[in-house]
Amino acid sequence: MGRSIVIVGAGVIGLDVALLLAEQGYGPCITVVAEHLPGDTSINYTSPWAGANFSAISGGDANALRWDKYGYEHMLKLAEEHGTEACISKTPSFEYWDELPSPTKIESMAEYLKDFRILSLSDIPEGCQFGVSFTTITVNAPRYIQYLYGVLQEQYGVQFVRRKLPSIEAAFTDVSTKVVFNCTGNGARHLPGVEDVRSYPTRGQILLTRAPQIVKNVMRHGKDYETYIIPRPQSSGNVILGGYMQKGVSTGDTFSSESDSIVERTTTLLPELLTPGMEILAAFSGLRPSREGGARVERTNIQLEDSRDGIIVHNYGAGGTGFQAGLGMARDAVGAVEDVLSRLSREKSRL
Ligand SMILES: Cc1cc2nc3c(=O)[nH]c(=O)nc-3n(C[C@H](O)[C@H](O)[C@H](O)COP(=O)(O)OP(=O)(O)OC[C@H]3O[C@@H](n4cnc5c(N)ncnc54)[C@H](O)[C@@H]3O)c2cc1C
Repeated sequence: MGRSIVIVGAGVIGLDVALLLAEQGYGPCITVVAEHLPGDTSINYTSPWAGANFSAISGGDANALRWDKYGYEHMLKLAEEHGTEACISKTPSFEYWDELPSPTKIESMAEYLKDFRILSLSDIPEGCQFGVSFTTITVNAPRYIQYLYGVLQEQYGVQFVRRKLPSIEAAFTDVSTKVVFNCTGNGARHLPGVEDVRSYPTRGQILLTRAPQIVKNVMRHGKDYETYIIPRPQSSGNVILGGYMQKGVSTGDTFSSESDSIVERTTTLLPELLTPGMEILAAFSGLRPSREGGARVERTNIQLEDSRDGIIVHNYGAGGTGFQAGLGMARDAVGAVEDVLSRLSREKSRL
């Protein structure tokens, strides 16, 4: 049964699909095929470069609101039950806007975020028009995906294969494969059989610093910039400082002028970074797998060369929200093939 379900991609999006399926008992039916696996670093592998936290950076459309809510509730539970091993934690968060955010977005956040509060103008930085505080979920991105990798293999029997696929069709090489989840992130733009022209990267540069005195998240959303401070769980006081949202930029290089700007903006936003001081450990850049119109979570059929029908569930384009929205996206992706999964369950029980 090991190849009945193939997931292409081992970023947080593919791992979240594997987790949801494994929790429903399909672990031994799953093979994850990916060029990069947790523990690797590459500019073509975004997940290890994320900040990462839950924030209002996501969109205000119905999908984004639903995915965020589901993701928050699940990650909150995970932080409470397995926070230490998973390297995720509950952290106080303060978010400020230079311009008024959409009321729909704020109303939705207010419904489910723990300790949600709208801040008075006297409590927010000069130049901002709106601010909120709440309990967020903060994630040590590279270690969290390694935690999922371990749990999926050891607890649920999911297989992982390192391989770069030449096309999406190649995921159906095994005749027992019933469904393929396409979780290739930025790969979706050029992968034969997908070639989604709406996909594009959004580059971000971040700084890894040590500042153990920082125990809260702070974010400022500007018209054309994002500034954020995210303490990294289980890291002995490391803090991520950001950042940039550069649409269509695909270099993995880092630039000292951008590092200087990040230091200037974050220390202005949170002067505590300078008392007693912070050490800059490294600069990184990553490419958020973005998509015009939002993430694609969609079931499609393809006719395979051997004239079998192949079912693909596309699940990519999470942009800057793969950690917070990934479980919600996974729920929709898995829900799209309930019929296939029930057939698989019947076959499993006959064996
Ligand atoms: C600086 C920065 C900060 C961020 N901060 C946050 C944050 O605070 N909160 C948040 O929620 N999100 C954040 N993000 C966004 C988040 O990192 C992404 O949304 C998420 O990592 C996307 O995951 P993914 O699985 O789609 O892609 P990836 O992690 O890129 O994984 C893609 C996978 O597909 C595989 N693949 C691709 N093509 C092929 C092929 N042909 N054959 C085999 N395998 C293939 C790759 O090898 C890889 O395993 C941030 C991103 C950046 C860059």
